[in-house]
Amino acid sequence: MIRSITQPKAEKEIDLLLSGSGRIFIIGCGTCVTLTRTGGEPEVRAMQEQLSGKGKLITGHLVVPVACDNLTADALDEYGHQIDQADTLLIMTCAFGVQTIARQLKKMVVPALDTLFIGKETAAGEFSEICTQCGTCIIGETGGICPVTTCHKGLVNGPCGGTDSGKCEIDRRKDCAWTMIYNRLMDLGRLDSMRRLQPPRNHLGEPTPGKMILS
Ligand code: SF4
Ligand code: SF4
Repeated sequence: MIRSITQPKAEKEIDLLLSGSGRIFIIGCGTCVTLTRTGGEPEVRAMQEQLSGKGKLITGHLVVPVACDNLTADALDEYGHQIDQADTLLIMTCAFGVQTIARQLKKMVVPALDTLFIGKETAAGEFSEICTQCGTCIIGETGGICPVTTCHKGLVNGPCGGTDSGKCEIDRRKDCAWTMIYNRLMDLGRLDSMRRLQPPRNHLGEPTPGKMILS
């Protein structure tokens, strides 16, 4: 299952972001952030207590089923009165959820979480990074294995000199990404793909902020 992986912002940062707001409505999400325990019902209630203790008036709270879904508008409608009474929405979802909610309501929104990456659950409560959304996807040439997230050095040309019997020199418990890529391309009869040198990445130029043009 693919998830948006988030972590709570520091309490100090949230306090600063809420410094001009006295009346707050808190929104969590029943999907990724419930699983990662960063924005489900228990975390929303804990936040409510924490802010009440600091003198904020909490006009209500809601955990929407899927914050990034457009059906969220209907869930928000049901709480319209309590939301109207708030001057700020404190949103405990990934950035996609925050933006989806912000589009629905004419209210100041404050995210309570930082969105880290798209992850896959590998064990209960454990997530591995599968894509950083780098904007220059090369997995078409690496047999579908992402070296940006799988290689410890994020090398797009590999392996480095430290690969040893299929393991990574940085962490011997992990398989070397570039050995995996080599084996996969060999199985597919496409080792030629590995000979192509990837050009240096232009991190400044990718991706174009906020725009995707489909033609
Ligand atoms: S190369 Fe890796 S990090 Fe970049 S877009 Fe593709 S899968 Fe995501
Ligand atoms: S050993 Fe493999 S996974 Fe580790 S840093 Fe080198 S190329 Fe990357």
